[in-house]
Formats: sequence, C-alpha cells, structure tokens
Amino acid sequence: SRRGSADDGSEKLKVFLRIRPLTEAEQERGEEQGCVNVQSEDNLLLRAPKDSHNMKSAERGVAQSLHKFTFTKIFGAQSSQQEVYDHTIREMVRDVLRGENRLLYTYGVTNSGKTYTIQGAGGEAGLLPRALVSVFLKLSGRLYSAMDLKPVLSQEVRKLDTGEVRAEEMRRDALLREVESTGGAQSRLRAGLSWDSGISGLSAASHIATQLEGQNITMCFLDISSHSIFTIRVLHVKPQAELGQVTRIGELSVCDLAGSERCKAQQNGERMKEANNINTSLLTLGRCITALRHNQTNKSRPPLVVPFRDSKLTRVLQSFFCGHGRSCMLVNINPCASTYDETLQALKFSAIAT
Ligand code: ADP
Ligand code: MG
Repeated sequence: SRRGSADDGSEKLKVFLRIRPLTEAEQERGEEQGCVNVQSEDNLLLRAPKDSHNMKSAERGVAQSLHKFTFTKIFGAQSSQQEVYDHTIREMVRDVLRGENRLLYTYGVTNSGKTYTIQGAGGEAGLLPRALVSVFLKLSGRLYSAMDLKPVLSQEVRKLDTGEVRAEEMRRDALLREVESTGGAQSRLRAGLSWDSGISGLSAASHIATQLEGQNITMCFLDISSHSIFTIRVLHVKPQAELGQVTRIGELSVCDLAGSERCKAQQNGERMKEANNINTSLLTLGRCITALRHNQTNKSRPPLVVPFRDSKLTRVLQSFFCGHGRSCMLVNINPCASTYDETLQALKFSAIAT
C-alpha cells in the first residue's frame, strides 16, 4: 500500500497565479498597470482599461468592466522565487521521492513570466533548479535510510518522433559524470538540454542495469509544439535486488507551456502547422481540466470522459491527472494594461470557477 498519498482524486486541482512586476523597459515607456487589482490572498479583480482598443464589443461602452477571479493562492509582484517554490513545488518534490507523480505547469501569454518562474533569471533561480537541488539534497541525506527502499535515479532522454514518444537514453559514460551532482544537472539545464550528440538507443534491460549500478538521475526533456517539458524520474529498487526489481517510480514534471495567446483560431503562413499543434494542445488541455473539475465537483453524477487522447501534450501528461498523480497550474500574468485582452483570456481559461 502507498504511504501518505491521497489517491481518490478528491483533492481539488490547484491553480496558482503569479503577477510579475513591470520590467524596467515597461516603466520607462510609462506602461500603465492599473487594471490588475489583488483583493486578497486568493482573489483578483481585473478592470478593463478605458482605452482598450481591441476590447470585445460586448464590453465596449460598459463604464467599468470588472472581472473577479479566484485562485488557490495569488503571488504578487513582490513574491520571491523562494516563496513561490515553498507554496507550490516543495511538497511535490517530497511526494515524488515517495513514488508519486507530480506535475507543475505554467500557463500564460508570452512575456508574462513563465520562463522566469520555471528557470529563473538574473541570479534568481526558478522552480526547476530549486527542485533539482532539493532532490539531490534529499537523496544524499537520510530521508530513505529508514525505508527498505533505495531510491535510484537514472537518465533518459525522450524525443518526440513522428507523433510517438520514443524513449532514448544517454550513453552512460558521458552522462554519469554530468548528472551525479546538482551542478551537473543544472548545467545540463542551462545548456538548454541539447543532448542529441550523446544519445544512443539502449534497451530497457541495460537501462535497468545502469540504475542498479548506482546511476542516479533520470531526466527527460520533451518539446512538443513549443511546450517544454522537463521530467525527473526517481526509481526505487530493492537493495541487492534482481535486475529490474523496481518497486516504485516517482516522476516530477515541470512544464513551460507555449504562450497562451497562440491558442486561437486564426493562423496562417509557415507557422500554421505548429500553431495548430499548439492550439490543439492548449485547447485540449482546457477541455481536460474542465472535465476533471466537473468530475471532482459532481461526484454523484456519472463522470465525463476526459479527452486526454486528443492531443500529444495531454497524452504525455495524462498520468499526472489520473490515479495517484497530482498536477498544479501556475498562471502567469503581466500587469500591463496594453495586454489586457490576452490577460483576460488567460484568467478566464484558468481561474477556479466559484
Ligand atoms: P514568458 O516566458 O512568459 O514569455 P519571461 O519569463 O521571459 O516570460 O518574462 C518576461 C520578462 O519579465 C523577462 O525579462 C523576465 O526576466 C521578467 N520577469 C518575469 N517575471 C518576473 C518576476 N517575478 N520578477 C522580475 N522580473 C520578472
Ligand atoms: Mg518563455
């Protein structure tokens, strides 16, 4: 039996909001930021700017168009990376080391702070490098000495190939040195995970064998139509076990989704195919979340089918939404009045219905 896991799917999907501060450039050009108003730790008011040009016709003429949104928790412009980490992914790291699947993904328009939140910038490490540090610290500590399990990590790169996710693994000599330490893992991350030169196709058996030899991290980077997915997989094997006796696998996936403004109907030119894929992925993700929320709040009714199979993105992320899996969405918005319409769309997509 599983230890300490809420596995009946009763836990509500968590949705966090982060509002970034104005950048220096935006301040210099006098960017207006009056439309975003944090009311409390979990409530936000969005007010249409008076001169919003492309405001929907239905809103035009309404003296003060106000929208109220509710989130699990709202992080304002002053919130540090550490604070966001503590309230979102910290607990997930612990769960993953116990063999659970956890996903954190960012959602928002381009330039809203998604990459800043996940990777960090200007010496302010983001959630992913912090999570990596935490995984390595916990594994080298005594967390697992009391358990009859030996957590082992190994490394793998999955690439998306003609619609199928194909598992590939790094050549072991090259990778061991690189990822034994947090520093190695982070330098991989910094290098943009361009690992192609070191990849060779190894069989599942040799994959397990290298795990038993003490390799210690599985990292997996997927790029599906501009959605960047980084996964750390922790494998638990019994001490002195036969080859392949993995007792538990926990996965932590951190996902920087493509800009939500690309989730719209009309696109043309060269980028149409890619745009369509992004479109399908984000729209399907939205439909999955809607169905999941419906199933969570209407337990007495027959559950809706969640359309995970309808896009590559949702197929890959499915395990985090089902069974023992847990996911949380982190919505990023910028405070600029000039992108009011896109911000409104992102909030409507993501906010917790009340
Ligand atoms: P996105 O990935 O959503 O396109 P970025 O993460 O690149 O957006 O952020 C846009 C700009 O805002 C960058 O210059 C980034 O450094 C800055 N930024 C984002 N979030 C913050 C924050 N919380 N504090 C300070 N600067 C931020
Ligand atoms: Mg980005």
